[in-house]
Amino acid sequence: MKLYSNRFPFKIKSCILGILLIAFLFLIEGCSGSSSESLPEKIESNDDDEPEDDSPYVITLNLRVHLMQDIVMPHSTGIDMESWVTPEDVTETIMPEVNAIWEQANIIWNIESIIEEDVVKGDNYEASIKFIASTQRDDNGNSDPERLPHLYALMQPEFMSTEAELGENLFHIYMFPFIGNTSQGNAMSGFNYHSVVGTWTNKHNGGGVPEKTLLTESKTSFDRGSLSRTISHEIGHVLGLSHNDCSYGCLMGGVYTDGYALNEGQILVSRLEALDRSF
Ligand SMILES: [Zn+2]
Repeated sequence: MKLYSNRFPFKIKSCILGILLIAFLFLIEGCSGSSSESLPEKIESNDDDEPEDDSPYVITLNLRVHLMQDIVMPHSTGIDMESWVTPEDVTETIMPEVNAIWEQANIIWNIESIIEEDVVKGDNYEASIKFIASTQRDDNGNSDPERLPHLYALMQPEFMSTEAELGENLFHIYMFPFIGNTSQGNAMSGFNYHSVVGTWTNKHNGGGVPEKTLLTESKTSFDRGSLSRTISHEIGHVLGLSHNDCSYGCLMGGVYTDGYALNEGQILVSRLEALDRSF
């Protein structure tokens, strides 16, 4: 009896404990089940996704392209340089190349608008465009800064960035026929970065007879430097880059000026500025 009576309560105790344990586990399961149902699922999935997202996200910047019209620029070699780049050239050829170049920084350039813009013709218009076309680089290789206010004066104020838009997500590229001998582009830092490029160039022939600038150029055989590359270079300046050295084939010049590459530091600097401008 004693053994029996001793064993029986033990069995009952085990049974009760077992039931309590099952009930407890069930309760826990029920509680956690109901609490997870009440929590937004996004919280759990965010925790899971965060460590997997290790690629820098894409920053989209807006570019206003000004195709300057009603201007023929005479050159000392006797040729007259007209506007020739079309909106289709911009959308079909130039911007895909610019975006291919800037993809290395995960920056996408979105066309805000393409404006076929008549130049402003002030009192000194003829003398002004003749002066621009006659400017030369100095002995140190620097292009003539005197031409820049003349180029700026040809832009329509109504299509420029307003005071409120400066520093926001709007960038400018102005395509003029010619912006000076052996000069292909200028970021126009002193003119609120209303950047200019030339659709004619004589950089490749050392200041000889200007020819139409190539829209794009093979990345494997860099020869002249294309309009797309010059635009990519100038918007690099707008994003805070200078003519830093990089190991080879650099977009931003330095020792190796014949390519498209940005180094890690340049990617960081340009992305920080792009991020700042993108909000
Ligand atoms: Zn430059």
